[in-house]
Amino acid sequence: METAVVPTRFPADTALLEALHQPVWVFDIDRSRVHWANGAALQLWQAATLGELCARDMGCDMSDTVARRLRQYQRDFECGDARFSEQWTLYPAGHPTTLWVSFSGVRLPDGRMAMLCEARPQQAMPPDSLRSVEALLHTEVMTTLYSRGGRALYRNPAARTSVPEGSDSLQQRLVDREDLRALVRGLVANGHCKLIARVATPQGERWHDLSARLCRDAATGRQALLVSEIDISGLKHAQAQAQYLADHDLLTGLPNRNHVIKAYPQALEDCRRDGLQAALIFLDLDHFKRVNDSLGHAVGDELLMHLARRLRSVLGPQDRVARLGGDEFLLLVSDADAAAAARARVQALVALIAAPVQISQTELRVTPSIGVSLYPQDGQDIDTLMRHADQAMYSAKAAGRNGMAWFQPAMNAAAQSRLDLETELRRALVHGDIRVYFQPRIEVQTGRIVGAEALVRWFHPQRGMIPPDVFIPVCEDCGLICELGAMVLDASARQQVAWAAQGWQLKISVNLSPRQFFYNALLQDVRDILDRTGCDPRGIELEITESVLLGHDGRTVATLEALDALGLGIAIDDFGTGYSNLAYLHRYPVDTLKIDRSFIRSLDSLPALTEMIVTMCQVLKVNMVAEGVETAEQLAWLQARKVREYQGFLFSPAVSPEAFERLLRAGPPPPQ
Ligand code: C2E
Ligand code: MG
Ligand code: MG
Repeated sequence: METAVVPTRFPADTALLEALHQPVWVFDIDRSRVHWANGAALQLWQAATLGELCARDMGCDMSDTVARRLRQYQRDFECGDARFSEQWTLYPAGHPTTLWVSFSGVRLPDGRMAMLCEARPQQAMPPDSLRSVEALLHTEVMTTLYSRGGRALYRNPAARTSVPEGSDSLQQRLVDREDLRALVRGLVANGHCKLIARVATPQGERWHDLSARLCRDAATGRQALLVSEIDISGLKHAQAQAQYLADHDLLTGLPNRNHVIKAYPQALEDCRRDGLQAALIFLDLDHFKRVNDSLGHAVGDELLMHLARRLRSVLGPQDRVARLGGDEFLLLVSDADAAAAARARVQALVALIAAPVQISQTELRVTPSIGVSLYPQDGQDIDTLMRHADQAMYSAKAAGRNGMAWFQPAMNAAAQSRLDLETELRRALVHGDIRVYFQPRIEVQTGRIVGAEALVRWFHPQRGMIPPDVFIPVCEDCGLICELGAMVLDASARQQVAWAAQGWQLKISVNLSPRQFFYNALLQDVRDILDRTGCDPRGIELEITESVLLGHDGRTVATLEALDALGLGIAIDDFGTGYSNLAYLHRYPVDTLKIDRSFIRSLDSLPALTEMIVTMCQVLKVNMVAEGVETAEQLAWLQARKVREYQGFLFSPAVSPEAFERLLRAGPPPPQ
């Protein structure tokens, strides 16, 4: 930038300018029009009159780079006395005319800053030189020639507009000293260097992609440095945003598993260096799936956001929190005594999470199961510590949920055997080692078999028969339950058809896990099975537990009504052990209540409760099945109260279909 004294207001003395042979004109930057021109300029522009020239819209074919540059020059003129010179090619009447133009600031009568341009004709240059000058003038690539010492010798217009006032050297341009050192190292080693660096510009710090190469200054022959730069701030910003998205959970804004894997190893390393311990607190909400399934994902999401806020509020300044996915959260606490710090955090967490959350007129309460592993004693790396905290959390769940457990080495073995069980279960499903047994449902008054409950059995080649209480929860956890459930329903429907063909019209009841009930494809599966087997829907009853009805949202009603419309019966299993809210009998299409066997067992000591349930069912006219009848006395009690059906070892446990048929044949003949 050259500096010179410029006329501050136009016209100062146009007569003088008019007399010059050199073309001189004033360019109104804001309006992209010539404001005034002397005779030589009119000739240059091939304009008949000043009015005609001033009417031309010079902005219509002006590139963005030029427009931006002109605005920058305008700002420079405002800041001080600035003068620039550039080689320009103008196109009066479409013919290229190359000129050397010097320009400086001049104020228009209305006070706005314009540009006084003075042109000198340029000697004819070879076409390629002309083109290269033009290209350098218009390109957005910022090109600067520096002396070996880093002083700017030449900048193209794009580079010029990107340099803040008073910044003249490469050293001042690069914000980060380390970038300068890297640049110098690259140049010394290879003579060229590429670098992405933060640079100082009039718009503040920007990210530039720099290519530097050693060369010679064509004017002096001295060694020089040619640097070209592209502004990649937009790209950098997008990258940073992509990185943020990759490392954060969008719902809660908390860091995610990705971030944990990347950043936590360093946090552990910092602990080691500072002689601190750390605790990894793994938190999983109890029965969160039920909230999602029964109240919908929007409510589930909102609940998670509330909880994430609460989690944040117990953090100490050094603590970190992340959402690992679903309803799993992780806290990292570093402290001289990590166990004590973890205990304090868990205490605070449990209290905070226990407080009810109000979401669209529903008051929700959730509890967490928490597992804690300690660094360094329970693991040296983040993977091990996470696995161990997870195992501890699992054991807190197994111990009845809503609690906390510290990692113990024995948990490793338990986790391994659970994993083995899962693998073996998948194999068993394929190999047919899982079979459906049937326990007779007996009519109390006649002693006739009127139905059966399908109960699944796993015949393990080495371990023998594994009861469903052991493997159904594993199936529920790993999602196999839907596959297993479809298999049981299919086998039951086939059996129902086979027995009906032999004259035994039985109602087969099939257990449905909550997870299966809320599974999207349930209705389709049921329809497919009924179609495939040709089973009469009235021959199948689905057993659900009270917990399924708890959410009592639209979806539960819709599913139950759809099943009812298909003609299937609905039974409430283990009635009395849950919420025992008879109100839902009105709301839902329920056909049967199965009174839990604990009530039958306590008939001797506490008959009143069972009596009450029986009376209520009779009032409400719901079919009743007493479960777990083991003695003749219990049966007599049911007979006296006119309970319709029972199941129990007194008659038979669940048996294979072949054994069931023997029972059918041995009993009274089916009613005609
Ligand atoms: P549940 O639905 O309440 O099934 C009744 C359980 O009580 C069965 O245990 C049955 O063998 C047992 N039982 C029947 N009579 C007596 C008796 O007189 N005394 C005693 N002490 N027990 C009796 P099982 O077969 O071990 O099944 C346990 C649970 O596993 C079932 O409870 C059910 O919740 C679940 N289950 C079994 N099969 C399936 C299935 O195919 N799908 C699903 N989702 N769950 C199943
Ligand atoms: Mg059952
Ligand atoms: Mg039951």
